[in-house]
Amino acid sequence: MTETASGIRTRFAPSPTGFLHIGGARTTLFNWLFARRHKGVFVLRIEDTDEARSTAESVDAILESIRWLGCDWDEGPLDAESDRGPFSPYYQMKRLEHYDKYLRQLLEEGKAYRCYCSKEELDAMRRLAQLEKRPPRYDGRCRLLTERQGRDLEASGRKPSLRFRMPEEGATLVPDLIRGEVSFENRLQQDFVIRKTTGGPTYNFACVVDDHLMRISHVIRGDEHLPNTPSQLQLYRALGWQPPLFAHLSMIMGPDGGKLSKRHGATSVLEYKQQGFLPQALRNYLALLGWSTTDSQQLFSPEELIERFDLAGCQKNPATFDPVKLAWMNGEYIRKTPVPELVRQAEPFLKTAGLASAEGPALERTVALEQEKYKRLADIPGLIEFFYKPVEYTPKAMDKVLRTTGTKETLGGLAERLSRLSPFEEKALESEIRGFCAERGLKAGQVFHPLRAAVTGRTEGPTLFLMLEVMGREMVVSRLRKTIDALG
Ligand code: GLU
Repeated sequence: MTETASGIRTRFAPSPTGFLHIGGARTTLFNWLFARRHKGVFVLRIEDTDEARSTAESVDAILESIRWLGCDWDEGPLDAESDRGPFSPYYQMKRLEHYDKYLRQLLEEGKAYRCYCSKEELDAMRRLAQLEKRPPRYDGRCRLLTERQGRDLEASGRKPSLRFRMPEEGATLVPDLIRGEVSFENRLQQDFVIRKTTGGPTYNFACVVDDHLMRISHVIRGDEHLPNTPSQLQLYRALGWQPPLFAHLSMIMGPDGGKLSKRHGATSVLEYKQQGFLPQALRNYLALLGWSTTDSQQLFSPEELIERFDLAGCQKNPATFDPVKLAWMNGEYIRKTPVPELVRQAEPFLKTAGLASAEGPALERTVALEQEKYKRLADIPGLIEFFYKPVEYTPKAMDKVLRTTGTKETLGGLAERLSRLSPFEEKALESEIRGFCAERGLKAGQVFHPLRAAVTGRTEGPTLFLMLEVMGREMVVSRLRKTIDALG
């Protein structure tokens, strides 16, 4: 058994019905940080009870996303089929015997009952409630069925679900570590289904059984689950179990104040990976979605995040997902990354752009030139490809800069001087080119701009003299001559 001194055990319990989205990633991170901070255990559990919508591909994508984020788990799946840990299996559909045991117990103790209502009857009940402007809830009509009536209904082909008998009076108090105590009136709750007609457990039931059996100490999850918590607390009570502590994380809104969704841009973690966000940057950003330190620190090293994270810093007000801030933060992390490491991380993007093994200056030198500018790894190829591909002049470079009087002569003079310059280094290049300007009575701009346009095809780019050094004499001179030819 994995026991730690703190006894703290958290879990992330995704339903594998799609990708891991920003909200789920934030929940994962908070559970992971809390466990790491307190030297506890972080568990991953796959809640695949929705058989129609759960897929192995989704399990794979979720595991890949969490691994990429760097939130390693101590117990849980290794892949879409196997797992590891003292409470294995960590797939709910492999744990049916546990649920059956407690379903039987609740039934025998009269705390649950069989419901034979058909889908049509339940739909009608809902519509009537809507018409009468009541909250749609099951009216409890099967509570009083006798065993005999039940047998008859079964004989007529009806398959029962099991419902939990909720208390009808009073209130269920949810003690929440972020919101304080939240009270739910029991008369507004319903006898919820704990076993479906197909025989499988529902989320609310399986979740309680597993959190208990897996000795989860803190349930940290999105606040869309807050309305489930009174039902779950009543189950704990009915089963005679001590409930875990709950912390419901605030909702995440898009920049326009609506609930975060596709229309605000990428929402799945793997899309951020594909766009070239660094996992440590996304982690830092997600940590601040609903959590802050009293001094409002923004950038945290991985160790600092673990050290400083606490539920006391979590807020109940909605958090706003701000893609501009995320891009800024990613840029900060890119700037802090040592260049060899940055080149390694950017390799998939360089490969796609055909630059990974292209002939030309060392990638470490070209990538370093514009390190200040990258917001995403995907920005890198576009800013350095001119080193590796034949020059293509932008219309602005050609018409505004190169096709101007005297430019051909200037480029010719430069080609001549630079072909003899040694060493071909930043400082020497600068004094040579400035000397050239003075000799010809040209302003710096009359030389620097055409020079840049001629060797890169662009009007903007890295700092000029260092860029020329990185290109090397041969490339610079041959590009100058090609441009002179292109000017006719
Ligand atoms: N399977 C649930 C979900 O994906 C987990 C809810 C919980 O954390 O209790 O939303």
